[in-house]
Amino acid sequence: LNLVCLSLVLSSLGAIFYWQWQQRRVSLESMLVNGLKNSEFTPFYQPIIDTRSHQIVGQEMLVRWRRSDGNLVLPNQFIPYAEDSGLIIPITESTLAQVKRDIPKLLGWISVNIVAEHLEKGLLSQWLDRNESCDTQRLCFELTERKPIENFDKAIIEIERLVFQCQGFKLDDFGTGFGGFSYLQKLGFNCIKIDKMFIDTIGTDDLKAGVLKSIIAFGHESKMEMIAEGVETQIQADYLSERGVYLHQGYLYSQPVGLDELLHFYDRYLNKEKAHEASHKASS
Ligand code: C2E
Ligand code: MG
Ligand code: MG
Ligand code: MG
Repeated sequence: LNLVCLSLVLSSLGAIFYWQWQQRRVSLESMLVNGLKNSEFTPFYQPIIDTRSHQIVGQEMLVRWRRSDGNLVLPNQFIPYAEDSGLIIPITESTLAQVKRDIPKLLGWISVNIVAEHLEKGLLSQWLDRNESCDTQRLCFELTERKPIENFDKAIIEIERLVFQCQGFKLDDFGTGFGGFSYLQKLGFNCIKIDKMFIDTIGTDDLKAGVLKSIIAFGHESKMEMIAEGVETQIQADYLSERGVYLHQGYLYSQPVGLDELLHFYDRYLNKEKAHEASHKASS
């Protein structure tokens, strides 16, 4: 009898938790729908630096949810729900419209995070067709390995179009998911983004640092462009540059910021580089 009671208690607890989780999901979803109606999704940008030329070569667009109460919500708190509910599609549509408007003010390329569904439904081709006035050669897309692609045939066709018409196609968070090498073999990526998780291992002289070395060797071998994500220290930056990974994104340079702050960053960074060059010339 005790066992029966226990299992009854456990299963009703389970049901309550499931119900609460459902409630939370449902209410977050309706908040997302409202956020869309009120245009609360806004692009932030994080610059990407080439350590050879010290130029700003591009930026990644990272969405932020600016709530009506002024709070800024980070992607990890709503992107998973947006992906499950399919709301990520109109959210991306909304941020892409703003990216299109911002492009003339930005330096280099702009990379936008997408999900498998975009590729499988040919949604980005449709967007490109509807936005002919956009400078699409400066636009690129990145896909994580988080969610598997189910319809490879359709995805491959879509990627070919993106590679042809846009700046390229990047595999995000390389090494953290399950798609990894098979994705690279099947799909037309021209760039891998090395996840912060591996950049964090620099200087830690253990097995994990060995994984970073293998990823870098693989990138060189397969002639992939490489971007290091989450570069936070000069030691990491030097380590990567010495090993031929020159494109860096991380707090060492800038956090993701809104358009105005990004334009200020451009000014500060380019002036600093100019001053640096001038003092270099003067001393040589
Ligand atoms: P991600 O695409 O891998 O983006 C990089 C994340 O690392 C960003 O987090 C960025 O702020 C953070 N980061 C960059 N440099 C550093 C650093 O030096 N130190 C630390 N601690 N963090 C750093 P964020 O903006 O919170 O975005 C999280 C994830 O949400 C993104 O990871 C991406 O997968 C997803 N995401 C963001 N915007 C979108 C979007 O518009 N659409 C989709 N589908 N996913 C998005
Ligand atoms: Mg990304
Ligand atoms: Mg990433
Ligand atoms: Mg990442």
